[in-house]
Amino acid sequence: MPHCNRKAMNEMKQNTTGKFIVFEGIDGAGKTTQIRLLEAYLQKKGRRVVCTAEPTDLPSGKQLRRALSGEEPKTPCELAALFTLDRIAHNMQPKTGIAALLESGNDLICDRYFYSTLAYQGSETDPDWVRSMNLNCPEIRHPDLCIFLDLSPEESMKRINSRPEAREIYETRERLERVRAQFHAVLKTFDPQSVRIVDAGKSIDEVQSEIQRIVDPILK
Ligand code: ADP
Ligand code: MG
Repeated sequence: MPHCNRKAMNEMKQNTTGKFIVFEGIDGAGKTTQIRLLEAYLQKKGRRVVCTAEPTDLPSGKQLRRALSGEEPKTPCELAALFTLDRIAHNMQPKTGIAALLESGNDLICDRYFYSTLAYQGSETDPDWVRSMNLNCPEIRHPDLCIFLDLSPEESMKRINSRPEAREIYETRERLERVRAQFHAVLKTFDPQSVRIVDAGKSIDEVQSEIQRIVDPILK
């Protein structure tokens, strides 16, 4: 058997592993819009890109949606655990999970991740428990980069109201204000290099240019 140099193996693995980029932001901040544009940008560079989202379409994500819609009411701790369970399933799914896709060289762009759980569920139950359950879980990968699209609730409401889909009950101005503040508190606890706050109040093109400036240096 040939001599196996662990350091060389790890470096090789790192070079072939795709980048894991998460988008966060209150509703209407422009996540869907900017993810599509970043996907096209990365593809143009010849990279393989997969876009994904949480909650997932897996059974755990479907259960979560039923809970969020009020169809199957849950306690705050149950909800936090369900989000985390769905995240583990999202990571560990054979072939189509986060781990498998990254390891086979795809870049992954994910619409919402554990920052959302920390911001939303962390404020409704014990934040240390929610944080530890997510950040210390060996089956929940930490992103290479989180881009937080920061938008005022006023502008966000305008955008939500002009969106074709029906308005969800969660999206009131007061709630958006609270969630935005919670996000800022959570993001402050992460390494500022890996969590970047982008002013999402600018034009779609300006926001995308800023995102590309942030993403470019992490691409190898
Ligand atoms: P999210 O996925 O974060 O909820 P969307 O990408 O769906 O946000 O954007 C919400 C609405 O605002 C959409 O109708 C979209 O076309 C519009 N929009 C997105 N970004 C901008 C922007 N920078 N300026 C103006 N309108 C925007
Ligand atoms: Mg969206």
